Amino acid sequence: MTGPVGGPDLPQERRLVTEIPGPRSRELQERRNAAVASGVSSVLPIYVAAAGGGVILDVDGNSLIDLASGIAVTSVGNAAPHVVTRVAEQVAAFTHTCFMVAPYDGYVEVCEQLAALTPGAHAKKAALFNSGAEAVENAVKIARVHTGRTAVVVVDHAYHGRTNLTMAMTAKNMPYKEGFGPFANEVYRAPVSYPFRDGLDGQEAAARTIDVIEKQVGPGNVACIVIEPILGEGGFIVPAPGYLGAVAEYASANGIVFVADEIQSGMCRTGAWFASEHEDVVPDLVTVAKGVAGGLPLAAVVGRAEMMDAVHPGGLGGTYGGNPVACAAALGAITTMREQDLNRRAIEIETLLTSRLVELATRFPAIGEVRGRGAMIAIEIVEPGTSRPDPAVASRLSAGCHQAGVLTLTCGTYGNVLRFLPPLVAPDALLHEAMDVLTEVAAR
Ligand SMILES: *Cc1c(COP(=O)(O)O)cnc(C)c1O
Repeated sequence: MTGPVGGPDLPQERRLVTEIPGPRSRELQERRNAAVASGVSSVLPIYVAAAGGGVILDVDGNSLIDLASGIAVTSVGNAAPHVVTRVAEQVAAFTHTCFMVAPYDGYVEVCEQLAALTPGAHAKKAALFNSGAEAVENAVKIARVHTGRTAVVVVDHAYHGRTNLTMAMTAKNMPYKEGFGPFANEVYRAPVSYPFRDGLDGQEAAARTIDVIEKQVGPGNVACIVIEPILGEGGFIVPAPGYLGAVAEYASANGIVFVADEIQSGMCRTGAWFASEHEDVVPDLVTVAKGVAGGLPLAAVVGRAEMMDAVHPGGLGGTYGGNPVACAAALGAITTMREQDLNRRAIEIETLLTSRLVELATRFPAIGEVRGRGAMIAIEIVEPGTSRPDPAVASRLSAGCHQAGVLTLTCGTYGNVLRFLPPLVAPDALLHEAMDVLTEVAAR
């Protein structure tokens, strides 16, 4: 094999040998600007040569600390050994037959594993897809056939993807929806629980959500309520305790399918296999993607067997859904999660990051709140002493981290949230160094 090798053996260090981005990255950026549609953008145009553990090595030889994990995807680290081995074996055996044409056992095993890992002891089945948006679309298809109803209820600050139906389900206009309408109909939006901004407890916030369903939609029309147990792109919003349970209970009492979109929060990210577990919520259907396959494109809908089986044969599927190489990667990733107990590791990362950020907040009053669970942690940036969003300061912090070799992301409806999503295999020393850099940037 030739070319750079990534994985956990890469030196776990921040090392800058050029400005960011360096000359070779800037060259590639010029080629990209001529060839790649400008609607596709990148947070930080350093071109990647290799990655692993908690670092990304760029083509100029810079080693950056990765607090993004490719948006919560490489939770087991890039080029994780079990993923590499299983993928290599699978690629050498066969790369595609289409599960709908001639099946293979990797697909079946991923479905078995996900049925075992998702919350609840009831009989479950699963179906595999390529992307998170596709999983969300299919959860809606399943809920509609199962209930014979059409309405889909989503919440403020939700993010569910970029396809037509999932754009309709996503809350934020710019950049996700602007100019792309008309959107799918029968999608209704209700308020959510956002403790930092609404000050409501879980029961009060749930009552507000339910009131919109009762008055504006009619529970008898609702096929499903789709909600992220921790809202991701919307700002790493953790609903008040009891909120999710109260909404799930209302769904169950009204024959509504409760869908937990765990695409970002699932697969050990929050210190549990699924974030619903923190609230003792057992969803009817769970959507899974991002962290499930160590970086290869794979997604799933997992849920109650009788709901999953409501759809007629041939009603679900797709050419590539559950591709054998992606399934092999998922099995390698799940093995890694178990072997390295990455749920425990995510909790350790939560402790490290939150203690550092809470300390920083005492000296940097623009931090309005430190929140999140596991290795899904964020700070919301506001004008000091108020709750007014300050996206300019969030951008300044993020850009300062980038220049210093720490890859951070922002998010939030107001663009004022800095989020930290390190690979779960990133060592403590690297995370502390990233927090040192952030502290330094904040003090400027
Ligand atoms: C990323 C994400 C999606 C969309 O997944 P894609 O693979 O980008 O289509 C859907 N829901 C949530 C909660 C996400 O974080």
